[in-house]
Amino acid sequence: VVVADTLDPTARTNVRRHSERGVYERDRIHAILDEGMICHVAGHADGTTWMIPTAYGRRGDELLLHGAAGNHLLKAAGTGVPLTVTVTLVDAMVLARAVFSHSVNYRSVVVFGEASVITDPDDKAAALAAIVDHLLPGRSAECQAPTPSELTQTRVLRLPITEASAKVRTGPPLDQPENQDLPVWSGIVPLATLAGDPVDAPGVAEGTAPSAGWLDQRRWLRPRT
Ligand SMILES: Cc1cc2nc3c(=O)[nH]c(=O)nc-3n(C[C@H](O)[C@H](O)[C@H](O)COP(=O)(O)OP(=O)(O)OC[C@H]3O[C@@H](n4cnc5c(N)ncnc54)[C@H](O)[C@@H]3O)c2cc1C
Repeated sequence: VVVADTLDPTARTNVRRHSERGVYERDRIHAILDEGMICHVAGHADGTTWMIPTAYGRRGDELLLHGAAGNHLLKAAGTGVPLTVTVTLVDAMVLARAVFSHSVNYRSVVVFGEASVITDPDDKAAALAAIVDHLLPGRSAECQAPTPSELTQTRVLRLPITEASAKVRTGPPLDQPENQDLPVWSGIVPLATLAGDPVDAPGVAEGTAPSAGWLDQRRWLRPRT
């Protein structure tokens, strides 16, 4: 199977506002998904549009979502309710001279699709490992694998990343020409997500320590790009 490097925009994923900021390269979409930590999952069920923040993982061209078996939105999604998922990275405040021109530098992804439930226990365990490893690469191998009972208590969904867009804003504020000379400081303020020093859980087993590899990982400290 030949997989295209670029996703075709659809009627839903065609970036209309600032279309020059639209990105459809699979690698760039995946990179944003991999750098993000949480997503927002939206879907329409029981007469309301729900939106829930949650953790996720990525395995190839699939986004992996999980929750308690009774999780309302994921349960609905398992019956074919269409989902929209967003992931947002905020890179900088963009402070213009005029209120109108303020903005944010960002990289974000929107995925549309229908999820399916992962039922095979081995595949489910692998998907859960991928979600934990998305938070911290390599973590699942250090921890106890899910028991059959824990697998039963958990719903795991896969959502194809086939109808998706990214949008990226970079660069300085874009004030209107008539506001360029206003005597107001203007520029960007870079933002980054930083992880602090690990704090032991109560009763953590003697002789255990955070894996040395963690603290060295670039992913552990998320600099602006
Ligand atoms: C952190 C952040 C802050 C923002 N703040 C504002 C704000 O205050 N006001 C504002 O108007 N806009 C803001 N945006 C941009 C916003 O996400 C929309 O792109 C913009 O509002 C255009 O909306 P629209 O409905 O006209 O999009 P359209 O261009 O009509 O959207 C069509 C399709 O383009 C794709 N698309 C649109 N936006 C994005 C996106 N951000 N990421 C990935 N795919 C996308 C989707 O597939 C969408 O279905 C912000 C974005 C981010 C990430």
